Amino acid sequence: MKKVVKFGGSSLASAEQFQKVADIIHAQEERRYVIPSAPGKRFDGDSKVTDMLYGCYHLAEAGEDFEKELAEIRERYQEIIDGLGLQISLDGEFDIITKSFREKAGENYAASRGEYLNGIVMAAYLGYEFVDAAQVVRFKDSGEFDAELTNQILGERLSGLSQAVIPGFYGAYGDGRVKTFSRGGSDITGSIVARAVKADIYENWTDVSGFLIADPRIIENPEAIETITYRELRELSYMGAGVLHEDAIFPVRREGIPINIRNTNKPEDEGTWIVESTCQKSKYVITGIAGKKGFCSVNIEKAMMNSEIGFGRKVLQAFEDSGISFEHVPSGIDTMTIFVHQDEFIDKEQKVVSAIHRLADPDSVDIEADLALIAVVGRGMKSTRGTAGRIFSALAHANVNVKMIDQGSSELNIIIGVADEDFEAAIASIYDIFVVAQL
Ligand code: ASP
Repeated sequence: MKKVVKFGGSSLASAEQFQKVADIIHAQEERRYVIPSAPGKRFDGDSKVTDMLYGCYHLAEAGEDFEKELAEIRERYQEIIDGLGLQISLDGEFDIITKSFREKAGENYAASRGEYLNGIVMAAYLGYEFVDAAQVVRFKDSGEFDAELTNQILGERLSGLSQAVIPGFYGAYGDGRVKTFSRGGSDITGSIVARAVKADIYENWTDVSGFLIADPRIIENPEAIETITYRELRELSYMGAGVLHEDAIFPVRREGIPINIRNTNKPEDEGTWIVESTCQKSKYVITGIAGKKGFCSVNIEKAMMNSEIGFGRKVLQAFEDSGISFEHVPSGIDTMTIFVHQDEFIDKEQKVVSAIHRLADPDSVDIEADLALIAVVGRGMKSTRGTAGRIFSALAHANVNVKMIDQGSSELNIIIGVADEDFEAAIASIYDIFVVAQL
């Protein structure tokens, strides 16, 4: 049995956190490949090392003095090294970093040093081999991640090692230049390593006990989701439920490797299992609720629209021409509504409206602002009657006016549009009826 374990920044922010991590790793022999993030925040208001590196490099790039900022970063690592009683020195590494910053080695290189240095410290502390991600995670010249080449190089390199530490978040082009993934990208590295070593489980350790059924800023102490499928997760992540980087699913999904989200500060919690498919019933009919504010709808009316071939295409063309992507398009007999992100749309709205008139010749176009979209997601909905009915009666009881309803044909989710100001009440009423009422 092989496990790949990834630890997020808050799990590695201090020597004390490092000790918890080492205890977790030593508790099971199977935890053989370790992916560290850079040190995160130690307390509210603290800085993440990755942000400090970006800030420091921007000074270097502008030709300004960056010694003080780099010294602060160095102190963060020294505090960890001293706290763990390690005998290693990062002096040589910091000399190289200073020189590379002066030579303007690039923002990607700068940001990647957070994980790189943490990997060196982690490997020394565990007594595991350190494998620099720049040598095993490859990007194509286009900037795209090279999944197949990486899988081959990484698989070969790790096949000879029974234990290793591979820093997250970065890799390199064929010529050796470092490139990072987008923010939070260590989750992706963990997934890539899990695929390469054909792990049985990819454990992703963070500071929450898994995905929660609803946002804890809205619902007090929501329950954690026990098991969620990749597809359900995709729906919830799209609506803003963020614990795992969205792209982290793809590498493990190809091999059917389950992801287990765990809490470093509460290792006894089971966390959330993310799987391809399961016959395990979810505890409740719904798996999760997520949503986002800040949408607006463009409502278009035209008599006899239903029989006009190409009408929808012409309307969408108006959005495409202005470079605006749409989120949802519910339609009626003589109406069609396009949901877009308000902040993307606001500057271009009049251009889009006149384009709709020019291209599609509607009777009227009406814009409604400050809307929220809520996704109620659950594989259990398919086989349960009355789910939609229960959602809408809950919303009616909470006095929430429903502006839009969209159920995908997968029956995996129902999307509801409400006014921004009703957002919290709507989520609370849905949580109440499906979770609290079932307890
Ligand atoms: N350290 C990087 C960030 O802060 C990557 C990661 O933590 O996953 O985004």
